[in-house]
Amino acid sequence: MIDQWGRKINYMRVSVTDRCNLRCVYCMPLQGVELRPRDQYVSYEELLKVIEAGLTLGIDRIRITGGEPLVRKGLVEFLAKLKPMGVTDLSLSTNGLLFPAMAKDLKAAGVDRLNISLDTLRPDRFHQLTRLASDPGPVLEAVDAALALGMEPVKLNMVVIRGWNDDEVADMARLSIDKPIHVRYIEVMPFSEGYEFTMDNLVPAAEMRDRLFEEFGDLEPVREGVKGNGPAKYWRLPGAKGTVGFISAVTECFCGDCNRIRLSSDGKINPCLGHVHAVDLKPVIRNGSQEELVAAMADAILKKPREHNFDDQDSDFSLRVMNGIGG
Ligand code: SAM
Repeated sequence: MIDQWGRKINYMRVSVTDRCNLRCVYCMPLQGVELRPRDQYVSYEELLKVIEAGLTLGIDRIRITGGEPLVRKGLVEFLAKLKPMGVTDLSLSTNGLLFPAMAKDLKAAGVDRLNISLDTLRPDRFHQLTRLASDPGPVLEAVDAALALGMEPVKLNMVVIRGWNDDEVADMARLSIDKPIHVRYIEVMPFSEGYEFTMDNLVPAAEMRDRLFEEFGDLEPVREGVKGNGPAKYWRLPGAKGTVGFISAVTECFCGDCNRIRLSSDGKINPCLGHVHAVDLKPVIRNGSQEELVAAMADAILKKPREHNFDDQDSDFSLRVMNGIGG
């Protein structure tokens, strides 16, 4: 489906749970998210209806996310139904902790690609950042398990926070030398439900790039990008098997290329990460026909704004940006 700004929307991030086995400081409060009554979440059967509706509209690329998707029971059986329905590209975002034990089943269920979050290589910091785990080793094992199964591409996402882990940007880049992985640096976004970060904690992507150029000399731009649907721009370290990429949601607007919508675990479509306006599909999933569901989704897509609207006074995200980050 084409949105009102001429963008082809063919990609949906589907959150299958709010729960997580970590409490990353930029993402979740220490006590975890407040869980709502069970009927406020959508079941797998209901998710399948939404995905079917998305396929009718040409959304055939799905990324499964959370919370931590691997903590939800029955995930593998659910995923195994997606490719036969017509999903052409199935990817997963995970913190990796439960991945090695599930890797083969996930691959057999059709997962083509993997994004793994890892913000530090140092055990003390891993605990400081994730608050519930103290060893990044299993995350690196997850990377190796995905590579061994031929998942391609495998991306390692690092949220960079000044004063917390920004001195590890070069160490993380070194991982891309010997392994064919794509290390991606994400600017910390100001919508955390955990720790409140300020402008001082933001490391602009341009600064991260400069640091890598200083450390490694000339990086070769990877003009063709890396398979996926993302907004990252990629470079290659001299002689590296993998690449490094930058996701600069705060300092460099990439909304013109945005091809995605998001479905939350409580059945709401959020057409833009930078806005708080979501469309609740639950009533129509539960009481409407499949045609009505398709129409409701199309309607939500037409609400997708042209870009993160920093002037939108209703947007918490915008207000925070205006209050200092990325201004
Ligand atoms: N649990 C999975 C994982 O760890 O990848 C999937 C969910 S997690 C919310 C998805 C991605 O969002 C992760 O790469 C995480 O680092 C990133 N993220 C969460 N909060 C963020 C924030 N405030 N700023 C930037 N990235 C954030």
